[in-house]
Amino acid sequence: MVAVRVAIAGSSGSIGTQTLDVIAQSPDKFEVVALGVGSSVDVVVEQAKRWKPSVVVVTDEGARSKVAALLPGVHISSDLADVVQDADVVVNGVVGFAGLPVTLATLAAGKRLALANKESLIAAGPVVKPLRTVSGALIVPVDSEHCAIHQCLRSSSNQHQEVQRLLLTASGGPFRGRSAESLRTVSIADALKHPTWSMGPKITIDSSTLMNKGLEVIEAHELFGVAYDKIDVVVHPQSVVHSMVEFTDGAVIAQLSMPDMRLPIAYALDYPQRASIPFGGIDWSTLHRLDFELPDTETFRCLSLAYQAGRIGGTAPAWLSAANEIAVEAFLAGRVLWSRIPSIIEETLQHHDGASAHVVDDILEADRAARIAAEKVVAS
Ligand code: MG
Repeated sequence: MVAVRVAIAGSSGSIGTQTLDVIAQSPDKFEVVALGVGSSVDVVVEQAKRWKPSVVVVTDEGARSKVAALLPGVHISSDLADVVQDADVVVNGVVGFAGLPVTLATLAAGKRLALANKESLIAAGPVVKPLRTVSGALIVPVDSEHCAIHQCLRSSSNQHQEVQRLLLTASGGPFRGRSAESLRTVSIADALKHPTWSMGPKITIDSSTLMNKGLEVIEAHELFGVAYDKIDVVVHPQSVVHSMVEFTDGAVIAQLSMPDMRLPIAYALDYPQRASIPFGGIDWSTLHRLDFELPDTETFRCLSLAYQAGRIGGTAPAWLSAANEIAVEAFLAGRVLWSRIPSIIEETLQHHDGASAHVVDDILEADRAARIAAEKVVAS
């Protein structure tokens, strides 16, 4: 058996470390050819010593010289897109907009992209789309909901005709059932307590505001080409049903497993085969019920803001994503209250210039302009 060559951008993060865990459990099947990080010196040095990739990318300049000194003889690069070169599959687990170059380089090279970086697709959807027609280019989503939908859609031989709607499930986050008034002064620690998933801080805050689900609605629209009117969100606190697809005959196909990101990661690494390790196996003796309810979009306004930006299209989703990143950073830095996050995004979007998105520079410019506008709103 020839090992699948895996590159991991964002190897020190939650997705990156879990990818290496999946690989560690099937060491004959996979070979790690590239690791990429921002500034996590100790983690990437340890990973490189164990996995012996042919290239290590460190985007932070200061961190890069430290890594180079600790890994003599290893090719060290500053460009995240360099992880793509020797890989069969590229795991993009970079946090935020910084993941865009990896998405673009992977698809342009006609390779399989295991995509956990939803922001690059959301902000740059119109630019990413044409690259998906490059021969060999394939996106396999490493987001539990989209991985679920990807699996459900395999039950259809004519998706464009047969899909009635996508049903994205949401755990509801740590504040499900709370009123806007009771959420006015929640702490950073409260917002970081996710009930079912263990993830990085940015996405955990996004889950607490439901912006994560909002971004995932846009992600689903981009990935599967389904209109916004046919994408609904259902709150499901147990996070066992990872999403569903309703077909024109009324049949709903769902994917169930315990909340464990290693399942979507392994799904993308092994695709189109199934992984042989049951990462999300359900113990039916302890799972007694599955609950569903509609989201409270009055309290969690970020979800509606995402639908709005998605429907506007062009650079509006880039503005939404950038404004959200600034708002979440400001919250995590103790500069603004949690309850300010949606209003920062809403006020920033009022400055959106309506620009369209054709090339990467349009997206970069939109991201830059949105961040400046959002910073002004935060400071006001
Ligand atoms: Mg998700």
